[in-house]
Amino acid sequence: MKRAEELEAKGYTYSYDMLGEAARTEADARRYHLSYSKAITAIAAAATKGDIRSNPGISVKLSALHPRYEVAKRDRVMEELVPRVRALAGLAKAAGLGFNIDAEEADRLALSLEVIEAVLADSALKGWDGFGVVVQAYGRRAGAVLDWLYALSTRLDRKIMVRLVKGAYWDAEVKRAQVLGLDSFPVFTRKQATDVSYIANAKKLLGMTDRIYPQFAGHNAHTVAAILDLAQTAGIGLREFEFQRLHGMGERLHDLVLADQGARCRIYAPVGAHRDLLAYLVRRLLENGANSSFVNQIVNEDVAPETVAACPFDYMEQVSSIANPAILTAAELFWERRNSKGFDLTDAADLAAIEAARAPHETVLFDARPRLAGSVAGGQRLDVRNPATGERVGNLLPAAAVCIIALAMLERDGLWVALGLAATVGAFVWVGGIAYGLVKSAIFVVMNAF
Ligand SMILES: Cc1cc2nc3c(=O)[nH]c(=O)nc-3n(C[C@H](O)[C@H](O)[C@H](O)COP(=O)(O)OP(=O)(O)OC[C@H]3O[C@@H](n4cnc5c(N)ncnc54)[C@H](O)[C@@H]3O)c2cc1C
Repeated sequence: MKRAEELEAKGYTYSYDMLGEAARTEADARRYHLSYSKAITAIAAAATKGDIRSNPGISVKLSALHPRYEVAKRDRVMEELVPRVRALAGLAKAAGLGFNIDAEEADRLALSLEVIEAVLADSALKGWDGFGVVVQAYGRRAGAVLDWLYALSTRLDRKIMVRLVKGAYWDAEVKRAQVLGLDSFPVFTRKQATDVSYIANAKKLLGMTDRIYPQFAGHNAHTVAAILDLAQTAGIGLREFEFQRLHGMGERLHDLVLADQGARCRIYAPVGAHRDLLAYLVRRLLENGANSSFVNQIVNEDVAPETVAACPFDYMEQVSSIANPAILTAAELFWERRNSKGFDLTDAADLAAIEAARAPHETVLFDARPRLAGSVAGGQRLDVRNPATGERVGNLLPAAAVCIIALAMLERDGLWVALGLAATVGAFVWVGGIAYGLVKSAIFVVMNAF
């Protein structure tokens, strides 16, 4: 905060990003919760402007506040994470700060919206305009998420902030979809498609300012110029939204926007210990190291200015598909053969399909037995029970030892030797059966004679 004073004097505001990624244990989550609470208390001292747009803010990650922030643990998340976020939001409200929920992996998007809805519905937060949500334009659901947030804030009669970003987990999203064998990607696969999505969703946000305070985060001069143009065309004042940049990035661009245009600019400053910085740094390196990245191109003298400032709409109008054919879906990964299909166990539609396919088997008693050519000799039928509930789910008829030996011999010594063994054992069993019958009859006769 001391370091922020210099740029605050120039007119910048700050959002402090508490570094820290997914909590692995409950102790991690509690530690992050405590450090978020302390940070809000510390930042509160600088929140003197009486308006969340001029005051500093804080950004938090839901994954840092719960060790099992995942769809499979939805009930626990709603029970344990929601009160934690609510408590932090209450502190931010009391301090007059903006409080942003960072956007993370696409497979947690629906769950994050459930958490956000539950927190925002708390009547104690009424009258505070500082609750913020981050939306990723590279996500194919971005427009639908904005509509949902607008409808939510209208229904709850709240004003919220939305930070529009392009998205920082692009490589991971693509890889995850390929590894899981999903039909498609949750993100756009052409850089220009993301740029177009960003500008289209910026336009949407500029039409929602009665409920939403738009925060446009990024370092791409073309995107920033497009937003300024859209705002001017729509008659939206420069103080009704803000631009945001990351600490150490996009300085020249934002200086110009702040000084020449008189727009609001906020700096997102990472705060934390060195060891927590690594994941953040890796994301920045991946993003800025890409040839398509604006900040990479602008410093590369081999890239012509026309290329750096090329219009993404022109590009998208020329290509034959929105999807990038160079990025293979899971099914196409192994050119000569089709890859196996997977399921997304975080996706409501996939989960419903799996549930529907499983439902008919719920009451069926399964009968498991070895797959032998003939009948299974000698095995004893066993009950099989669900280890979780003790409920009987079926029977198991194991193979007798002789079947296993015959199979092993079939594999090792061939059909005739195995048949020989089976015949020998069969004969023994047969002879044994007769002998047993004779002995039993003899005993019966003898017993009856006396
Ligand atoms: C204040 C602030 C807060 C942020 N908070 C978050 C956050 O909460 N969550 C989050 O995810 N990110 C966050 N970011 C990071 C943000 O997503 C990236 O900084 C942003 O994507 C970079 O965009 P740009 O306009 O500066 O650069 P550009 O160079 O114009 O865009 C780069 C972006 O384009 C996209 N892209 C690249 N290649 C492709 C491709 N082949 N197909 C489709 N898309 C592609 C990626 O999103 C990539 O990051 C934040 C950024 C800022 C400035």
